[in-house]
Amino acid sequence: MITPQIKWSIGWCWGNMVHNQSHEAAANKYGNLAFETMQKHDVEPTPVHYELFYTYVSGENPSLVAAIHSRLEANAPLTDAFLSETFNEHFQSDDELTNAAASTGAQLDTQMDKILEALDANVGHASRFSDALRGVSENLSDTTSQSDLALIVKTVVSATEQMESRSRELETQLQESKSEVSDLRSNLDAVRLEARTDALTGLANRKAFDDGLLEAVQDSVEQNAPLCLVMSDIDHFKAFNDSWGHQTGDQVLKLVAGSIRSCIKGRDTSARYGGEEFAIILPHTELDDATMIANQVRETIHSRELVKKSTGENLGRVTMSFGIASFRPGEPISELIERADECLYAAKHGGRNQVISELNSAEILTKSA
Ligand code: GH3
Ligand code: MG
Ligand code: MG
Repeated sequence: MITPQIKWSIGWCWGNMVHNQSHEAAANKYGNLAFETMQKHDVEPTPVHYELFYTYVSGENPSLVAAIHSRLEANAPLTDAFLSETFNEHFQSDDELTNAAASTGAQLDTQMDKILEALDANVGHASRFSDALRGVSENLSDTTSQSDLALIVKTVVSATEQMESRSRELETQLQESKSEVSDLRSNLDAVRLEARTDALTGLANRKAFDDGLLEAVQDSVEQNAPLCLVMSDIDHFKAFNDSWGHQTGDQVLKLVAGSIRSCIKGRDTSARYGGEEFAIILPHTELDDATMIANQVRETIHSRELVKKSTGENLGRVTMSFGIASFRPGEPISELIERADECLYAAKHGGRNQVISELNSAEILTKSA
């Protein structure tokens, strides 16, 4: 049983109100509306706040709308801290991630410089040490007196002690740098992973999907192995959001992602393709096996009754439609995606909550034409 744990919220979207307006008129309207809304809620007119409120009133980003809307519903003030947090959460751009990666890279460079400096300094000490030993050995040949010998031994002992102490210092410095470098490396890995992950569902994001599909296509050609692409889309999700609110909708997106994840294996890639659309890349998989996998996902999602934990209210069930295409060696990737999309369209047209692959799409499309 699925139990969304989030607070009740009412679906709401400014986007519908300006559906048929020209782009420019809509931009003006959103701009004015953004300023009015900021004024109404005592929000300081900064560029960041303007971007936030422009997106809010345009309804382009349902999660952002839900975040601000539930704050307003709770009569909580739109403080700078809240707005800045909301901005970071919803607008984390590739630029920011790139900057984070660049900054970690620069810190790594600094650590490497420190290590090289320490090694250089140690080379200097070592050569001074060997000069001292050479001087001693030259002096030894024509030295006979005990006092001279004592002096030589003292010199050697002192040079050795200095060398030992330098080596210990170097070891400490290298240990420190080693742990710093390993921290930075994990940090860099985390930033890289974040840049390729959809924040809400934890699945691969669009960028990772594009890269993954390119790689899968290359492997398919090299190994002469089959490759299938599944495109899927939640049915009537707008109505679900309208009835139960975007935050509950977001929980459904997470549950769908979990269901997809539970039905695929290690080499497969599942991605949030956009909004309420998900894609699955299935390397080494023929169309009938891909159809079976997509049907498992479909049934897993359909079989779950959604219940709101806090109230026990029954939210019904969600269903998904699926389209599957098989890669044809030599074709551009865009054609593979297009054919999977056509099958998805056929699945929607054929009544939703179903899987259509290239094996049966022609028949369905002809019937429904
Ligand atoms: P269909 O069966 O034809 O796909 O109908 P639909 O209502 O699912 O399709 P439509 O394209 O009309 O609407 C898609 C909806 O998906 C509208 C939008 O609010 C919702 N959606 C997209 N992204 C998100 C998101 O991140 N969170 C939530 N909660 N909803 C989202
Ligand atoms: Mg859609
Ligand atoms: Mg949909």
